[in-house]
Amino acid sequence: MIIIMKSGATDKDIQAVVDRVQELGFTPHVSRGTERTIIGVIGDERGLARSNFEVMEGVERVVRVLHPFKMASREWKEEDTVIYLNGVSIGGGDLTIIAGPCSVESREQLLETAHAVKEAGAHMLRGGAYKPRTSPYSFQGLGVRALEYLAEAREIYGLPVVTEVMSPDLVSLVAEYADMLQIGARNMQNYALLHAVGKVQRPVLLKRGMMSTIQELLMSAEYILSSGNMNVALCERGIRTFEPYTRNTTDINAIPALKQLTHLPVIGDPSHGTGKWDLVTPVARAMVAAGADGLIIEVHPRPEEALSDGAQSLRPENFARLVREVRRIWEVLREEAAVREA
Ligand code: PEP
Ligand code: MN
Repeated sequence: MIIIMKSGATDKDIQAVVDRVQELGFTPHVSRGTERTIIGVIGDERGLARSNFEVMEGVERVVRVLHPFKMASREWKEEDTVIYLNGVSIGGGDLTIIAGPCSVESREQLLETAHAVKEAGAHMLRGGAYKPRTSPYSFQGLGVRALEYLAEAREIYGLPVVTEVMSPDLVSLVAEYADMLQIGARNMQNYALLHAVGKVQRPVLLKRGMMSTIQELLMSAEYILSSGNMNVALCERGIRTFEPYTRNTTDINAIPALKQLTHLPVIGDPSHGTGKWDLVTPVARAMVAAGADGLIIEVHPRPEEALSDGAQSLRPENFARLVREVRRIWEVLREEAAVREA
């Protein structure tokens, strides 16, 4: 339930509503906009009557959120959430390009890749330090050493860093080094982990589980938001279907559907979405055309030597072409939106 206050509501009116919400056993969430204040009621609101609040001083109206996700919904917050990281923003009309290797393999490999993606126009650097591998015999990542290389690359190239955190006990360590915490597809429903990243003040990139619905993705985001962290970006990275030709099936529908349902930014991952490097650029174009706020792309200077996901990694020159192409598409959409709004 969302309680929308009148534009002239006083602090006393707002406080009275907050007190009433608490008295009834719910948690209030106050967001003060430039025009008016909105008070969200968090908790199982079945049995809670709208009239409990509609008669109170300063209340304009009470809206029930129909979706099971509340804080993630557009009803809760109409305007796009914009995430700010050291001079880079995600959401709110920008196109943010995140790129780098699947795994950090060595200091040299990471710095070489960071240099190349920066030259090509990337805004942020990715690279796995802790890798969720299907096989326990595959490369598991360099751990803290990789975090140190990522921090060094950020210093040299000025690119904020995103890297995956796989367990709650590693959240504070990874948050010390990274600008943004990635929750991988395999951990989308690891509720202890979602709760842990909800408690730190680092933005989160939440990837869709390979067998999860759009609603389940939003419910996972809700865990993070309701734990106290409002800076969450969602990532469509492909889902499992009956099609074995590609590693996953990119759910293009999810991008505009999420943009309707939620105020959170949406990032497309055509690398995992396809699993094949020569499909990455065409699908990246489609993701931007569908309204993605950004892309996350795996790049390796020598994909044939990659310790993970070489088959879907772009060489730097191909990545540079991708950036040029998707920026053109994004510019056309931006110009059209400006004409519509004029
Ligand atoms: C990755 O980003 O390298 C990764 C492991 O992604 P996902 O969790 O989407 O499989
Ligand atoms: Mn990968």
